[in-house]
Amino acid sequence: MKIAVFSTKPHDREFLDKFNTNNRHELIYFEAALNTDTTNLAVGFEAVCVFVNDKIDAKTIDKLSKIGIKLIDLRCAGFNNVDLAAAKNKNIKVTRVPAYSPQAVAEHAVALILTLNRKTHKVYNRVRESNFSLENLIGFNLYRKTVGVIGTGKIGTAFCQIMLGFGCKVIAYDVNESETLKEKGVVYKTLNELFKNSDIISLHCPLNPKTKYLFDSKTFSKIKNGAMLINTSRGALIKTSDAIDALKNGHLGYLGIDVYEQEEQLFFKDLSESIIQDDLIERLMAFHNVLITPHQGFFTKEALDQIAITTLKNFTDFEEGLPLENEVKL
Ligand code: NAD
Repeated sequence: MKIAVFSTKPHDREFLDKFNTNNRHELIYFEAALNTDTTNLAVGFEAVCVFVNDKIDAKTIDKLSKIGIKLIDLRCAGFNNVDLAAAKNKNIKVTRVPAYSPQAVAEHAVALILTLNRKTHKVYNRVRESNFSLENLIGFNLYRKTVGVIGTGKIGTAFCQIMLGFGCKVIAYDVNESETLKEKGVVYKTLNELFKNSDIISLHCPLNPKTKYLFDSKTFSKIKNGAMLINTSRGALIKTSDAIDALKNGHLGYLGIDVYEQEEQLFFKDLSESIIQDDLIERLMAFHNVLITPHQGFFTKEALDQIAITTLKNFTDFEEGLPLENEVKL
């Protein structure tokens, strides 16, 4: 099958080519993101392959349908950037990689917690300047702290297990509670109870109309004074301007984010020689207690292998008319 692969970076080519045995599929790589302005690049293809920041809204889908695209294959787990109703309406199938390595993202969430807490990012630079002082480096024990987990699916489960291993008290909220996690000692609470009791809150639920701006000024007013908030899920779970207010008044003690609500213009790009026009992220970057990583939670060798294998399997299943195991349905 001939597939237009959008938002391609060198690692996408490397891993997809590695598993595309005997060039089973004809993969044409484009650096451009897929949106209404770039659909013409997919003329002559049967399928498009996209990533987290491609914008596949109704208008883009309409254009894709007109040029004969039959499959949108996401090489990621989240699908908030695809208008599923519009795709269904145009009889375009949508597939994704539902689980490639939940541990990759869960472990990154833990990396954000440990770095913010023990300030290893600061001390790394200090020591390079021969500054061996301990000034302003005091952290806190994770042992016996309460960690609130919102969304206990695949990544949330992996995260809960790691935090239980640290000796934390793990409380959680999910619209579907996990009996397995309960048996392991996770206690489900209401959202308000979770906000009130957590020293650390980590977000692992999808972005949808119900979860958009889950963290706004109202929520920030409910969390424990000085709590840490970690978001490796999707940027718009947090209203950034309200997070900035909560950081300024000191109520939010730490913020670690691997995702950002306006990340499309920034993440995955080297902008070191550019003037950043996004004032919100500039303000966030100025806080000493904020740590930002550019959507790298998924970025491990094991996860990239699995993403490539599943992405290619989705093409093959579609081409051969097999049941689409990884179809995203409305
Ligand atoms: P999953 O589908 O296995 O789990 C999501 C969980 O959220 C489910 O248990 C679901 O019941 C729960 N949920 C749904 N609506 C909810 C709500 N309103 N409140 C609380 N919980 C709710 O998904 P996953 O594989 O664990 O991935 C979680 C999210 O992580 C994805 O949606 C994606 O946005 C993000 N993600 C980020 C990266 C990264 O690199 N940073 C990589 C992969 C996935």
